[in-house]
Amino acid sequence: MIAKTRRIQDSKKILGELPTVPAPAPEFLFIATDNARCGKADVFIKEGDHVNCCQLIGMRHAAFFDQPIHATCSGTFVGYERHYHRSGKLVNFIKIHNDFKDTMDPSVKERSDDEIKKLTKDDITEILKNCASVGLGGSSFPTYVKFQTKNKIDHIIIDGIECEPSVTADHRMMLEHPEEIIKGIEIMEQAFDCHNALLCVKKKYQDLADVYDAELARHPDCGVKLCRLKNFYPQGWEIAMIKGATGIVVPHGHLPSEYGVMNVNVTTAYGIYLNVKFNKPVIERNVSISGDGIVHPANFRVRVGTPIKSLLDACGGYAEPEKKKVFILGGPMMGASLPNDDCIITKTVTSVIVLNEEKWKEQPCIRCGSCVLSCPVGLQPVQIMNAMKSVPVDKARVKALNPLSCMECGLCSYSCTSKIPLLDYVRRAKIIAKLP
Ligand code: SF4
Ligand code: SF4
Repeated sequence: MIAKTRRIQDSKKILGELPTVPAPAPEFLFIATDNARCGKADVFIKEGDHVNCCQLIGMRHAAFFDQPIHATCSGTFVGYERHYHRSGKLVNFIKIHNDFKDTMDPSVKERSDDEIKKLTKDDITEILKNCASVGLGGSSFPTYVKFQTKNKIDHIIIDGIECEPSVTADHRMMLEHPEEIIKGIEIMEQAFDCHNALLCVKKKYQDLADVYDAELARHPDCGVKLCRLKNFYPQGWEIAMIKGATGIVVPHGHLPSEYGVMNVNVTTAYGIYLNVKFNKPVIERNVSISGDGIVHPANFRVRVGTPIKSLLDACGGYAEPEKKKVFILGGPMMGASLPNDDCIITKTVTSVIVLNEEKWKEQPCIRCGSCVLSCPVGLQPVQIMNAMKSVPVDKARVKALNPLSCMECGLCSYSCTSKIPLLDYVRRAKIIAKLP
């Protein structure tokens, strides 16, 4: 997967120039009951029930928070099916037969600007909780839990960096919805009584600078500034982004809010606007489709719950169909690899990459040190691999090498001269390091 990244880096520029188009609405939509963060769920509807679009139909339960489940179309609940989730796991999905009427639930209603101005931080937090706002850049962390912080916020950081090659969902969102994004940031400023927001993008994207210079000139008192950061990977890592934007160093294991920083992804800011303005959960998102395994790349506006197969059909199907395919959800560096295309678009899927499989052989380590030099966290991936290869595994040594601080950027695997999948070893080491 990492080796392919070299080939697909250049495709990001082409993909980023394709306007977002609505994806065809599927006959059946699928809503996950559980996900990577929530292992249990209660479903409030029974088979045969009619549901409205955006209706509350269940509740997921995690260790320390609940997450509402909403229907993403109107239609009939016809049962459950198991499909792959973006986490790479097979999970249960609620299957809804789309009636293509999009009858909205009565809970969706517009708030006037005056009503919004009167909302307190607690009111906004409650709206985000009820609308199931999560980190739409891929983190899936509940936004309302972040908003519950008691820490004073001095900087609001909006992540528009989108570091990964071949992912352009946020880029298109920023180009096509600047006004809604600025309004979403203003709602955050109101919640935290902080009028110091930085919208962070990479310096190389002049198209974004042009759009936001013009948009911010129309909102001179909004307290938002465009912050053009360096063009390296992983500039989007929250620790690197916060340091680049503010100079504040958030130590690993600490929350940005402890240092007066509240950071959210730019598509999440757009979602916050929809949640607060219309009391509407996010039921659509931008998804980029790319890779040499499909005929045409595309940027789609996709209804949450859409099977990725229907998106691949809309891209002209598979290129070189006789070749075996590799499926990645998210970016090529940090995304999840799936065994086939039986997967559903959930709220946090930014991208689908389909590659023609290439066989390559792992070679012995030549001790070049590239993996150590490339690690932004300062880990020693080669030593972690060696500790994991010891028989039996030397748990104390694994723990001492601190794999839990790995942010899974994939640079060690990418830079390895011998094509060793070091990140796989580090991920397994993380599991070992969590054992008592
Ligand atoms: S993936 Fe590799 S390079 Fe990136 S933080 Fe983890 S160990 Fe370091
Ligand atoms: S980059 Fe690869 S070959 Fe070089 S030291 Fe690390 S594991 Fe060994």
